[in-house]
Amino acid sequence: MAASYIDGKVVASQIKARVKTDIEHWVSKDNRLPSLQVILVGNNPASQSYVKSKTTDCEEVGIDSDTLFLPDTISEKELCEIIHTFNEDENTDGILVQLPVPDHISTHAIIEAIDYRKDVDGFHPMNVGRMQVGQPAFRPCTPAGIMELFDHYSIPTKGKHIVVIGASQIVGTPMAIMLSREKDGGKATVTLCHRYTKDLTKHTINADILVVAVGSPGLITGTMVKEDVVVIDVGINRVADNTNDRGYKIVGDCDFESVSEKASWITPVPGGVGPMTRALLMKNTLLAAKKALYP
Ligand code: NAD
Repeated sequence: MAASYIDGKVVASQIKARVKTDIEHWVSKDNRLPSLQVILVGNNPASQSYVKSKTTDCEEVGIDSDTLFLPDTISEKELCEIIHTFNEDENTDGILVQLPVPDHISTHAIIEAIDYRKDVDGFHPMNVGRMQVGQPAFRPCTPAGIMELFDHYSIPTKGKHIVVIGASQIVGTPMAIMLSREKDGGKATVTLCHRYTKDLTKHTINADILVVAVGSPGLITGTMVKEDVVVIDVGINRVADNTNDRGYKIVGDCDFESVSEKASWITPVPGGVGPMTRALLMKNTLLAAKKALYP
């Protein structure tokens, strides 16, 4: 039986429509528009395209956004100083530095330079720590978006065995935390796999729900999963494709054909998790403008 699609585009547009209405209401009470400052260092084409999409989303929902383009020769100190000026700026609600930053700049230093009250990506240790102890915090957009997908499609996570593959700080690790939390979380039993996991299939084959966030096209095949598994494919990979003008296509981490034959639900790539990540950024920026998490 073929899997049903978890349509991130549809759910994301519903979230954005709600954010738009909330912003209209917020502004009608004499508040200014929420504002997002994006910082892009260098010329990474994927980063440029992500930033462009985020700007489009901001326009759509009514968030005032600006992108500062910086050369990849900028030093860590200079970049931190720029971030500090936005920290001080009362008219800036959210600050997002598009990752990755060039190798000579420490990602940790940049994330920690952002005022945690403006950290709409939810990467600052203050937000990470508060989320882990169940305090209000900006939650990283990708795993928070996946939680909304489970909710929207009424896919139960309570008591399920969920295998998360990939343990990055921005996707896999916060995903495992959100899914395993007993209170205000997924209430699931979670196995977190990464590059050092021995015999991946031993874990994936037992998963009721599989979340894959690795960056390796075709890593998960149909033989690695059980019947009726729910599959969330976070991967975004460019692979060569001569059938279109761009010369590439975007695929996830799963071999879609074989996995979708066994799964009950699956996210397509593109059109699954990606739009949710962007929608949650809009939601976080509105929370920042309202000072809803850190009054
Ligand atoms: P990352 O490179 O920071 O981390 C990758 C993780 O995968 C690591 O924990 C690593 O140990 C693990 N890994 C690598 N090879 C493995 C293997 N063979 N078996 C098991 N685990 C393995 O990646 P990331 O930033 O979390 O991104 C992962 C993927 O998700 C990428 O394709 C990225 O483009 C995509 N992504 C998508 C969204 C979205 O909105 N859809 C958001 C963020 C990232």
